[in-house]
Amino acid sequence: METMWAPWRMEYILADKQNGCVFCDALEKNDDLTLYRGQDTMVMMNKFPYINGHLLVAPLNHLSRLDQLSRHEMGELLATVERSVDILKQVMNPDGYNVGLNLGKVAGAGVEEHLHFHIVPRWFGDTNALTVLAEVRVIPEHIKATYHNLKPHFDTLDLKN
Ligand SMILES: [Zn+2]
Repeated sequence: METMWAPWRMEYILADKQNGCVFCDALEKNDDLTLYRGQDTMVMMNKFPYINGHLLVAPLNHLSRLDQLSRHEMGELLATVERSVDILKQVMNPDGYNVGLNLGKVAGAGVEEHLHFHIVPRWFGDTNALTVLAEVRVIPEHIKATYHNLKPHFDTLDLKN
């Protein structure tokens, strides 16, 4: 039987030793993992990914449920997800993506009070590499390098076009 692999289920690690909300904190402090801050949405890199290029897309508003989003915010959120996938395609050329939402702790949400989409780039054969990565995690230098590769694309991101 094949196991369905959903890397964002490991999300609790994201909240490791965090007080407050990682997304609101990142916005407040201009966190160095934040790639994009638009009118309604933001994109940041997962600080503790199991695969490099794991992005988090959130509304700027600290909301936990889909039905709390306005139609406009919902549209902007999905547009930001779509553009983020496009940027990953250009920069990292993955073979596919896992895009997902964890609603509630039981579903694996590590930061359940602030809604966010996970985008995980996938490559053929990456599950083998992940066994190793699961042990050592992606080292911070790799995250920084990826950040600098992605950042120029997010700097010119315009959801209106
Ligand atoms: Zn928040």
